[in-house]
Amino acid sequence: MVRQKRSDSSPGPLVFLGPPGAGKGTQAREIVKQLGVPHISTGDMFRENAERKTPLGLKAKATMDSGGLVGDDVVNEMVQERISRDDCGRGFLLDGYPRTLAQAEALKGILKQKGSGAPVVIHLRLGYNTVVERLSGRRICPVCNRIYNLSLQPPAQPGICDADGASLQQRPDDREAAIRERLSAYETQTAPLIAFYRNEGRFYEVDADQAPGRITGAIHRILNAS
Ligand code: AMP
Repeated sequence: MVRQKRSDSSPGPLVFLGPPGAGKGTQAREIVKQLGVPHISTGDMFRENAERKTPLGLKAKATMDSGGLVGDDVVNEMVQERISRDDCGRGFLLDGYPRTLAQAEALKGILKQKGSGAPVVIHLRLGYNTVVERLSGRRICPVCNRIYNLSLQPPAQPGICDADGASLQQRPDDREAAIRERLSAYETQTAPLIAFYRNEGRFYEVDADQAPGRITGAIHRILNAS
């Protein structure tokens, strides 16, 4: 169990940073179970909106499928609304946000307004070739959103979700052209956040090229100590 050090035993805001495919979603699911705070994945929010064909989803879909980034204003507004809800009072885990310096600055303002301190930022570090290998092998359950990997974490029965028997799917943006675009967006727009958060102080790194359970253990150790 994760021990929380804050006197009010609130985990506060957490941010998972790292390239697509580093395991942010997989790790976030584990960690929020332990902390009892909401998992806020901007990618999942956009995918749910696209599925329901809401104006926001329709606006974001083409950008997402090509591997580009949705505009900062749209994302910032969506996140601000989400973290203003009551369930975020004790803290929340942001997965896939912020992704640009403008978003990091916006988050700083939102947290200040909310009266929260600076987030604990954990960078899941993974090299380029491993990222490509992971993304092309990734499969997702459309029903429960569980994430598999054909080589690292395959389902018991090929193509079928262990939890609910649904047929696993490949995300449209996990195909080769979109992977290249996403990595280029990461390098140019998101990687600069590493220096930004290193300067802010509560920044930690974890080697993401290890078994998922070991990564979870490393994250727990950081949260226990921070
Ligand atoms: P993810 O599931 O985090 O890989 O996100 C999937 C896609 O959603 C990204 O490739 C972007 O098109 C969009 N997206 C998610 N989060 C953000 C964000 N913070 N800023 C801009 N676009 C985002």
